[in-house]
Amino acid sequence: MRIALLILLLLAGLFLAMHLAGRQAERQALRDEGEQAREQLTLYAGSLRTLIDRFRALPAVLALDPELRGTLGGPVDNAAQHMLNLKLEQMNRAAGSTTLELLDREGLAVAASNWRLPTSFVGHNYGFRPYFVEARRLGSGRFYAVGVTSGIPGYFLASAVRGAEDTFIGAIVVKLEFPELEQEWGQRSDIILVSDARGVVFIANQPGWRYRELQPISAEGRAEMAATRQYDKQPLAPLIHSTRINFGDDSRLVRVEGPDGPRDYLWESLPLPSEGWTLHLLRTPQEAASSARAASLAAGGAWLAVFFLVLFLHQRWRLARIRQRSREELEQLVEQRTAALRTAQDGLIQAAKLAALGQMSTALAHEINQPLTALQMHLASLRLMLDNGQLEQARKALGRHDELLQRMASLTGHLKTYARKTPGGLRECLELGSVVDKSLQLLAPNLRDAKVRISQELAVPAWVSGDAIRLEQVLVNLLRNALDAVAGEADPQLWITLRRDGDHWVLEVADNGGGIAEDDLQRVFDPFFTTKPAGAGLGIGLAVSYAIVHELGGTLSAANQGEGALFSLRLPVDKTREELP
Ligand code: ADP
Repeated sequence: MRIALLILLLLAGLFLAMHLAGRQAERQALRDEGEQAREQLTLYAGSLRTLIDRFRALPAVLALDPELRGTLGGPVDNAAQHMLNLKLEQMNRAAGSTTLELLDREGLAVAASNWRLPTSFVGHNYGFRPYFVEARRLGSGRFYAVGVTSGIPGYFLASAVRGAEDTFIGAIVVKLEFPELEQEWGQRSDIILVSDARGVVFIANQPGWRYRELQPISAEGRAEMAATRQYDKQPLAPLIHSTRINFGDDSRLVRVEGPDGPRDYLWESLPLPSEGWTLHLLRTPQEAASSARAASLAAGGAWLAVFFLVLFLHQRWRLARIRQRSREELEQLVEQRTAALRTAQDGLIQAAKLAALGQMSTALAHEINQPLTALQMHLASLRLMLDNGQLEQARKALGRHDELLQRMASLTGHLKTYARKTPGGLRECLELGSVVDKSLQLLAPNLRDAKVRISQELAVPAWVSGDAIRLEQVLVNLLRNALDAVAGEADPQLWITLRRDGDHWVLEVADNGGGIAEDDLQRVFDPFFTTKPAGAGLGIGLAVSYAIVHELGGTLSAANQGEGALFSLRLPVDKTREELP
């Protein structure tokens, strides 16, 4: 569900980014191209205007010619007409215009420069043409139209010819055709059009565009065009087009319905107010599509990059949070387990101590019983001595009593501390040699009963830091196990060595009790691992010893050596004590 949503977001964002960027880039490119087209259009307008301006004053100047005015004053005979024809022909050639003609006050062509041609204007009446009407009324007129005689379109510029007292006696007309202009424009790839005030295209540099209506024409407009025979027999067809984007008043993206389907053009228009015309330039956009494509690809890429970056960062943040949480959970768990283990360990130590105490109390009862019986007998003989007045002998006997009592006191003293539950953190500076001594003392009765030979090789003083009572417990365990192992041997032996190994003291207890089975070597430190008959061993002595030694920063290991087992206890040297003088 989340994945589907993400993909949807990704696609929607991608589409939106590409679309918007593409649109924006397309518009910018069109605007830029439109500006270029506009500059071009201004140039075209300039050349058209220059062309017309060259002839603008020509009719007015010719209208002042006294010969023309004189001839128009009265009826024109053939000789006068011939002379006028020649004159106009000459003037036309000199001026470089297309045709020159002279109309009388009714609009009848009296003479024309093209009098030799079959399409000669001479004898035709042009009174209906607006340029004549305007010249008669206002003094000058101009009009673009298709020639009724020649069929060739052109721009007519007319000026009134005035007789005496400023009366209108006729008009002189210049016709301009623009073959060079159309030819020059025809080589351009752009479409260049000139339309009149009604929106009818009358100059076009490409076929099919001339005589097209750029906007609907009203009925009066059509009637007027028919009356003035402006486009004469030329059929006019509307140009179907629609604006897609408007960049400004005269700059648009337009879709034109052509004979081979619709096409988009950048359409620039430039009004020519002096003639009432409008110049148009239509250009097929070149760069818009490609820059739109590039921009939308770039935007798509950027969107993808940002999307995946955000996703990546989010994912990393989530992962970090999960990790943090699981770390916290783990820490909590470790803490709980450690606490549980510590309690269990403390319990085990205590249990082991009690078990040892139980085992020992039998031997101890026996051990204490003997001196007590002896003491009883000594006391009886002491009483006899005192009765007999043997004072000197009695004093000697008392010394032996002291010895016996001392021994019992030290035994019970050790036992008292041994059963006490000591806090795990207790650390004191102690000497391993004395730990060995005390342990041997504790086990003295057992050792004596077993008739064990003990060899000691102790490099003392061996200072370590730890808890004396617990270390004694460890050693007592090792010695007791060794004793158990050698029980039944013909010549039971124990070796206790203490030596220095670098930063450690190594205390070894070896015996000749047959050793540990190879498979059991790994397991002797496991809690409740025992090979002894039920009731004889609990199997926690070594486990507890191992724990105690580890707690003190040392190690305890088991191996076989010679005819028996070898237990090594390693503890770090207590440097602070060593450095003392
Ligand atoms: P327990 O003495 O109650 O069995 P321990 O943890 O002290 O428990 O000892 C575990 C086992 O390790 C003993 O049952 C014995 O099999 C073996 N073991 C320990 N010390 C020796 C030794 N010196 N010689 C042979 N086996 C030993």
